[in-house]
Amino acid sequence: MLNAYHIHEEVKINLVNFNPDDKSQWEGSKESAKKELKKLRKRLANLKQMLYAENKHKVLIVLQAMDAGGKDGTIRSIFKGVNPQGVSVANFKVPTPIELGHDYLWRVHAKTPQTGQIVIFNRSHYEDVLVVRVHELASKKTIDKRYAHIVQFEKMLVDEGTTVLKFFLNISKEEQSNRFLERIEKPEKQWKFNPNDIEERKLWESYMQAYEDAIGKTSTTNAPWFIIPANHNWYRDLIIARIITASLDRLEMHYPNPINNIESYKDLIFDK
Ligand code: ADP
Repeated sequence: MLNAYHIHEEVKINLVNFNPDDKSQWEGSKESAKKELKKLRKRLANLKQMLYAENKHKVLIVLQAMDAGGKDGTIRSIFKGVNPQGVSVANFKVPTPIELGHDYLWRVHAKTPQTGQIVIFNRSHYEDVLVVRVHELASKKTIDKRYAHIVQFEKMLVDEGTTVLKFFLNISKEEQSNRFLERIEKPEKQWKFNPNDIEERKLWESYMQAYEDAIGKTSTTNAPWFIIPANHNWYRDLIIARIITASLDRLEMHYPNPINNIESYKDLIFDK
């Protein structure tokens, strides 16, 4: 399944080998890709409806990216037209004092999906081995232990019936600067601009190393990472939509069986 981007075992990752501009998995034009995305969205809407009705599986989608990497745009684009019943987004910001008073997975576990639901993590527990590592908010020893915790935590979720899909939206440093400029220049995007993002950008190399370790050390068959070329929004959306629909297809879901003799109720509906 889109093997070029699929990391399904512990492996050493070198992000230099992953081209953010890659478009190799779509041979047609951008316009034809947009048509394909429309079809995938319809399929996704149906699959999601079945997931909700069947009330048997749980789906967790993790989105991680550098600032302006396209997490918000991905959510908007892929879930457009999907019935919001049974879908939710959990955002993970700087932890509150109460959250910091617990272990780092506490706030995350509380937001994982229940049966019949898809939850999208906009940032996630991976921040605890990314920003926390880059800014040395915890010791190296503490962070080194977290990769194994995360693998075990996700294994538990999978064992208990959750489908876990993790996406790193891979943009280039140059594309990030284009997007920051766009945020400054377009009035409707200015609200997204945060001067602190410029400071974080200076730490790009440290973030890349942290991502390489996070992805390399926590990719497993059942909770894989996908490194998505994300410089082109249309390509990013197409690839992610394909991966999600293919994963939901594999659940072989069905609408629940109707009650016995359902036809006989027809007569009772109309007053005679
Ligand atoms: P976003 O960039 O996702 O749209 P914000 O601009 O509010 O949202 O940024 C959220 C910030 O919270 C990010 O800088 C992120 O690194 C930070 N953050 C998230 N989780 C943690 C964590 N566990 N520890 C420290 N900072 C975190």
